[in-house]
Amino acid sequence: MAGCSWALGGCGSDEAARTRTEGPVVIIGTGFGGSVAAFRLAQAGIDTIVFERGKRWDIQADGNTFPTLAMPDGRSSWLNPDFDLPVIPGRVTVDKYVGVLEVIESSAGNMAVVAGAGVGGGSLIYGGTLVQPTERAFRRSLPAEIDYGEMDAVYYPRARQMLGASVVPEDILEHPNYQWTKTAVAEVDASGLTKSPAPAGFDWDVVRAELRGEVVAALTVGEYAIAGCNSGATNSTGRNYLLLAEQTGRADVRTLHSVQYVEQTTRGYTVHVDHISETGETVEKLQIEAKRVFFAAGAMGTTRLLLRSKARGGLVLGDEVGQSWATNGDSLALRSNTGLMEGVHAGPPAVMASREDDSEITGMEYANGPGSLMATLGMTVLDEHGRITFDEELDDIDFIWPDSAQARVDAAVQGLHDSVNAGNPGSSAMSFGRPNTYHPLGGAVMGQVCDFHGRVLGHSGLYVIDGALIPGYTGARNPALTITALAERAMDDILEKDG
Ligand SMILES: Cc1cc2nc3c(=O)[nH]c(=O)nc-3n(C[C@H](O)[C@H](O)[C@H](O)COP(=O)(O)OP(=O)(O)OC[C@H]3O[C@@H](n4cnc5c(N)ncnc54)[C@H](O)[C@@H]3O)c2cc1C
Repeated sequence: MAGCSWALGGCGSDEAARTRTEGPVVIIGTGFGGSVAAFRLAQAGIDTIVFERGKRWDIQADGNTFPTLAMPDGRSSWLNPDFDLPVIPGRVTVDKYVGVLEVIESSAGNMAVVAGAGVGGGSLIYGGTLVQPTERAFRRSLPAEIDYGEMDAVYYPRARQMLGASVVPEDILEHPNYQWTKTAVAEVDASGLTKSPAPAGFDWDVVRAELRGEVVAALTVGEYAIAGCNSGATNSTGRNYLLLAEQTGRADVRTLHSVQYVEQTTRGYTVHVDHISETGETVEKLQIEAKRVFFAAGAMGTTRLLLRSKARGGLVLGDEVGQSWATNGDSLALRSNTGLMEGVHAGPPAVMASREDDSEITGMEYANGPGSLMATLGMTVLDEHGRITFDEELDDIDFIWPDSAQARVDAAVQGLHDSVNAGNPGSSAMSFGRPNTYHPLGGAVMGQVCDFHGRVLGHSGLYVIDGALIPGYTGARNPALTITALAERAMDDILEKDG
């Protein structure tokens, strides 16, 4: 990249850090939002430095890129040897390592947030579900300034195409491993709820190779979400948007670079970055001068950076930062259906059940589950939010999620289970694990901290381009497709108007 100049100093303190003038554009994070930004900026001929705290996880031929869910190790956990995944009871001691999952517990102990770490962010370990909310559900979740008609006609289709979203092909569905999918479809048919397909971001040719035994079985045995997909069937952003950005030569992705905070200067912004080892020690401190900074560290990561930047006097930000945060109304459960359940049932999501009317927006995704049980992820939309706070002593975020809100979420989702149970005698639902969410949203939302295209209000050249922009809910649907579509929408406007 042109224009690099180094003024060498020592490392170990901010004062002695290396000072580097480079840029002019920095992106923080390589999940859905960050990858869209990197690609669209690269296409427009703009060089970027993309900082990613985690490592790159290229799929290895030996089928052991990621640990399994059953046998977690350091690769499972983001720098926390005391690995305690909310969906699996019991703590596991693992090596301290830059693993793929960060678990953040509220200090009240009533909610755990799970987020991805590594090139691809959440897409590295996601369940692949890429679903679009209905217009009614979208309007209940997102600000009126976002035109659903335009999203439906332009940005959702673009996001689906770029992420490689499609429904499970018939030949795969016919395989015995997909018995559970047929069970799910039959359950929803008998429930009286609205049934809709759940497109997913998988490479079906790799899934076919799994079924022929040519590559390690991962997606076809339920080992893909949470731990990572060893066959490489998951279309993570490192294999679409970010790959395309890197192929232009304009996106310089730096892994194991953890941004600490951002400081406004007379020339623009200084991005303070720790280059870390695979066990999390800082090996070098960098300061990068940037004219523009795109925050795409996820709802928790972006809000953490904004609040820390504010606490250190780097950015002057209002009390709105951290507000309008919620869990997407997530409520996980296991389902058992003695009437319909037979054989192996592990695979990609294929169907959603929902109920939407003037008083309720609720949806449920059938995922895969352990043994003869099916996992379901219910979601709803509330008018209630929690909040991300900053603990100056710990130099880190905490968050508040009211028990009253979770009680309303659980009740709404239980209503869906009641309908399924009533239509399917012999079936039942049971909750499992601690309350948790894989879908944190908000903290730097549109219309409060940012404008409706992600520009941070009052800070020319600062943008938020990820799940932090969304006020807590995406219409009782998993959020990744909406995050991607909104990032596409924002980049169109930014590139047109901001150069
Ligand atoms: C196990 C799991 C399964 C999921 N399944 C689905 C699903 O099937 N469908 C769906 O729609 N959604 C799913 N989600 C949610 C989805 O992954 C997230 O909503 C989505 O990834 C958020 O996108 P984002 O761009 O906001 O941020 P992220 O994808 O979270 O990306 C943020 C990136 O920033 C990096 N980062 C954070 N802090 C820093 C820092 N200080 N410096 C440098 N880099 C930093 C992170 O490592 C990460 O790579 C799942 C999530 C999880 C955890």
